[in-house]
Amino acid sequence: MNCVIMYGPPTSGKTKTALELSARTGYSYLSVGNITRSEISKGTADGILLKACLDAVVEYPPELIARVVESRLRSLRDTAAKGVILDGFPKYKGEVGLFLTLCDSLSIRIDKVIVLDLGLKEALRRASLRRICGECLTQFMASEAVGGRCPACGGEMKVRDDDQPKNLERRYRDHSLSLRETLDALGDASRTRADIDAGQKPEDVLQCVVNALV
Ligand SMILES: [Zn+2]
Repeated sequence: MNCVIMYGPPTSGKTKTALELSARTGYSYLSVGNITRSEISKGTADGILLKACLDAVVEYPPELIARVVESRLRSLRDTAAKGVILDGFPKYKGEVGLFLTLCDSLSIRIDKVIVLDLGLKEALRRASLRRICGECLTQFMASEAVGGRCPACGGEMKVRDDDQPKNLERRYRDHSLSLRETLDALGDASRTRADIDAGQKPEDVLQCVVNALV
């Protein structure tokens, strides 16, 4: 099974691009955030362990993440999936060793590591345009507000905490650091890396990613 890993800082459109790439290529989309949320909501044994980390505000142990990812990857491989797009995983250098072992044991080949590039200034600009409704929690662009209120329910719209400049800048720098360390740890696999300018229009970003895969 082939595998594409997609990285990008906040506001780079990483998840959206990964989902569209999945629709375009027929590769399955896999997000560790979605998997951990699903384990927690189903209350599985691993879900209970994950929830405990969440409650204690500690990082998930790499072994636990590797285990939940393994079962998803295994079932994709068993259903003869064409390939898989990993949304930002492995995220930390500590996750890389277990991930590479997993790739070996499941015969997964890392085809491409896609890195969406976006400067901090542009990330801050994009974040400043996003709003969240305080009532229904839907996220919108500021320009979609109707009379300054949520277009869905009329609630008050505000800038998400994560998007406040100092928080966004911290998330951006955390991402840059963990990306650098993770790419180092990926070793040979990171030689397949392709850097894509995420400052372009979304459809152009997607096309560049598609072109990078062939
Ligand atoms: Zn609303």
